Amino acid sequence: MADLTRRSNTAIDHAHSGCCGYPHAIRGEEWDLASTSRVVNALGAVSRIGDLLAEHGARSVLIVTDSGLRGTGMVDHLEASITKQRLAVTVHSAIPANPSTASLDVAAQAARDCRADHIVAFGGGSALDAAKAVALLARTDLSAERLTGDEPIDDVLPIAAIPTTAGTGAETNGFGVMESSDHRKVYIGSDKTVPALVILDAELTTALPAAVTAASGFDAIIHGVESLLSRGATTLSRAFAAESLRLTTAAPVKAVKEPDLETRSRMMTGAHLAGRALTVSGLGLVHGIGHSITATTGTPHGSALAAIAGPALRFGIDAAPASYRELARALSLDVTGTDGADRAVQLIVGIASEIGLPGTAGEVGVSEELIDTIVTKTLDDAVTSNTPRHPSRDELTDLLATNLSTAGERAR
Ligand SMILES: [Zn+2]
Ligand SMILES: [Zn+2]
Repeated sequence: MADLTRRSNTAIDHAHSGCCGYPHAIRGEEWDLASTSRVVNALGAVSRIGDLLAEHGARSVLIVTDSGLRGTGMVDHLEASITKQRLAVTVHSAIPANPSTASLDVAAQAARDCRADHIVAFGGGSALDAAKAVALLARTDLSAERLTGDEPIDDVLPIAAIPTTAGTGAETNGFGVMESSDHRKVYIGSDKTVPALVILDAELTTALPAAVTAASGFDAIIHGVESLLSRGATTLSRAFAAESLRLTTAAPVKAVKEPDLETRSRMMTGAHLAGRALTVSGLGLVHGIGHSITATTGTPHGSALAAIAGPALRFGIDAAPASYRELARALSLDVTGTDGADRAVQLIVGIASEIGLPGTAGEVGVSEELIDTIVTKTLDDAVTSNTPRHPSRDELTDLLATNLSTAGERAR
């Protein structure tokens, strides 16, 4: 499996678009791909989970989800499909947003108690990330605090991932993020925590509050954007990222304001493709700062990304003009002029504001006094290393300081 934190040696900016139309050198590109995930994408597919688990030889299943979903009746529907196949089911619905190691220890104990042989991850990114930790821990006596992202654990429970938001793409890879007891973001997972079974069912997103649709949809858009711009991008990730952007940037306003199944299907499929893209390429500075804002202020992931997307994306423009031109092209902008990159960033920022997401760091609780902490966390975050232009501490401090308020953003 591709390493989220790896910096590829792919030449990122072979500006040959004039002669052949493809802006990157690919002679040195190497792939070594194995995929063992079965992905079922269909409206109503969640009803098939029982059959699919039975085919997998499951006998005792732990559903890992959050309490918000428990109340909607969607979990009951899921449970019914599984019990119909006479499999034992236990529901663990105590996964908080941005799961802490303590909450993961409780969930892992639930898996041990019911002798789970399969984990069903049902929910948004937090539930899917949590399920990966539970799958790792269930057959050990380890605490989640011991997970480091390079787990030497062999006996890992298989995961069936069913996203109920169109956003994180967490179903496409084995990575998860958790919050340590000292409030750092810690990456966990291995190639053994890649979900063996994925169900994409856009009908599951119809009951989402508009604010969640907006934040998770914007996350998917930034996955596509940062994947295209990443130093780790390859021909394969660009194919996924560009198509994901065509789907997700055409739909978010309608998905938030007057949702129908067509727009919800576009967001679900687009978010999945963006997940495929980022699994290969890694992400960049918007996620580096976004993670650090979330870890510092508790702001939800999608809102933290929106708050910093404009300045963080503009920061890299001069370092990778060909990649930004490709971004503009993926957004169906005219790229013949010199301002394609600026207009691409403007389009992304415009979507965030149209769907009601924050536009400055100040709006998500970042103050002058927190900047130093956020800068340190950003420079430590492995996702930052794939960004087209790596910021110095001073540059990052300046970037945050000038974007605390709308006045700062306008002054740029
Ligand atoms: Zn060329
Ligand atoms: Zn994200």
